[in-house]
Amino acid sequence: MKDCLFCKIASGEIPSKTIYEDDLVKVFLDINPVSNGHVLIIPKKHYENFLDVDDEIILHSREVAKKVYVLLKEKINAHGLTIVQNNFHGQEVKHYHIHLIPRYLDDNIEMKRQENKLDVEEIYAKLKED
Ligand code: AMP
Ligand code: ZN
Repeated sequence: MKDCLFCKIASGEIPSKTIYEDDLVKVFLDINPVSNGHVLIIPKKHYENFLDVDDEIILHSREVAKKVYVLLKEKINAHGLTIVQNNFHGQEVKHYHIHLIPRYLDDNIEMKRQENKLDVEEIYAKLKED
């Protein structure tokens, strides 16, 4: 897609520190990493988000993510892995991508809880109502 940063990275028009690629996806280091070895998996074809992307890409990305996780464990001693995939809100680049964020002992990375939340019972009732 014209003017899409990750389409340009997918085609090689914009350089990236690519650690894996095949016909469907590319995996490269995030330019502003949350932790050492933070990588992004992108489909080479443009999809905006989780609702648009083909199931083939989702399944393939999951296989690739497992291989990359093993690489991160073996090569840079990742202790664990957090997987993030933002859709619209919090999504800076509107080309579907999955963040693989290696975790290390005592890294202090945490998902902050939203304040002023509704009661869990109230949310449950809303989600279950017809
Ligand atoms: P998101 O907020 O989920 O859309 O994440 C977009 C990610 O892309 C951020 O973590 C950025 O640091 C990363 N990013 C932006 N531009 C580049 C680039 N040229 N190369 C690698 N990563 C990038
Ligand atoms: Zn794109």
